[in-house]
Amino acid sequence: MKNIGQLLKTDKDSIWHPYSAMSSDIPIYHVESAQGVRIRLSNGQELIDGMSSWWSVIHGYNHPVMNAALEKQLKSMSHVMFGGLTHTPAIQLTEQLLSITPEPLESVFYSDSGSVSVEVAMKMAIQYWPAKGEQQRQRFISLRSAYHGDTFGAMSVCDPVTGMHSLFSDAMPKQIFIPQPLCRFGSVCSREDIAPLEQALTEHGNEVAALIMEPIVQGAGGMWFYSADYVKQARKLCNQYNVLLIFDEVATGFGRTGKLFACEHAEAVPDIMCVGKAMTGGYLSLAATLTTSDIHTTIDSGEPGIFMHGPTFMANPLACTAALTSINLLHESNWQQDIYRIQMQLQQGLAPCQDLSHVNDVRILGAVGVVEMNEPVDMKKIVPMFVKENVWLRPFGKLIYLMPPYIISEEDLDLLTSAVVSVIANLET
Ligand SMILES: *Cc1c(COP(=O)(O)O)cnc(C)c1O
Repeated sequence: MKNIGQLLKTDKDSIWHPYSAMSSDIPIYHVESAQGVRIRLSNGQELIDGMSSWWSVIHGYNHPVMNAALEKQLKSMSHVMFGGLTHTPAIQLTEQLLSITPEPLESVFYSDSGSVSVEVAMKMAIQYWPAKGEQQRQRFISLRSAYHGDTFGAMSVCDPVTGMHSLFSDAMPKQIFIPQPLCRFGSVCSREDIAPLEQALTEHGNEVAALIMEPIVQGAGGMWFYSADYVKQARKLCNQYNVLLIFDEVATGFGRTGKLFACEHAEAVPDIMCVGKAMTGGYLSLAATLTTSDIHTTIDSGEPGIFMHGPTFMANPLACTAALTSINLLHESNWQQDIYRIQMQLQQGLAPCQDLSHVNDVRILGAVGVVEMNEPVDMKKIVPMFVKENVWLRPFGKLIYLMPPYIISEEDLDLLTSAVVSVIANLET
């Protein structure tokens, strides 16, 4: 077997990483293993994970209950096609998802990633309207600073500027964008805040299949927390203008914001909802698109009488087992208390950043902490600084953000926030 240096050379020469150039000189770290909240590098160094591997590893790495459930499932069947066949992990997961998601959601479509769950949601909305005799409803309203994934349909509803997809704009369907809601979480939403949505619905209502939004938390498009009141009013307007509402809860689902699903902050329910990321506790890639019985029966009754999507690895039994086990672990834990504790500690721990002149804003919601800088950070410089402090964080643009596993101890979270404060303070000079 090659040594780590040789392996890293192959990595550098031949493997693409997310949103990166192969010729990049931003360092890449070789991971040997991970346990609890710690990522162990091949040089023996252990990093406290502040990212939950992009929102997903909520119970920590290498969890004994997750491992046991997956080993058991592995011995019975790791995969079987879902066309014409079914299995208990998928059925049990479906029962579980329907019992914890908002009431009107009654059916589930499984896919492999959050982006595809968004594609599926958009296709559901587009297939719904012709069956209702409204062929012309093919477009979507989306919010500036939204992020919904990297595939073409999902890209078309990402912010055209911050969404990193402007290169492709001529190849994508043109959607209707309204400003990012500036009313903060915890505040009410003024007429001025909601007016652009109402205007878009007035102007384009008849050609719109759905409004798509990340309720409460806009993730990769800007890590912004906005008013629950906006979400509530958006639901009302969608009813009023007869437009479907899609909630993309791929990032916010399964407790991260302090509610099981972020839409609960607004007591608003979607017609279609996407979940992914934390669903399997970060063990395997699985996403789901949930919808109402009205939508699925309408699609079934239209042309061609079926829903036009079907991934090869749909409802993979190992992934469904991971999801079922992860959701059970969440239920058995005191997750609300954990999130509350993390929120309080992030508030306290990151407060010193507020006084730094190169920091623009510090905001916390649930187990998400964001330090927004005045200028974009230099990844080549800042990531090694974090690693030197034994923490793993991956900022983007002006945003340094934390979303640790829910099981993180007080001591480890303290190490994490102290490292963030010290690294940011050192950036000042
Ligand atoms: C990450 C994310 C996606 C895309 O999920 P992938 O699994 O990366 O395809 C979609 N929507 C939101 C809100 C996300 O945060």
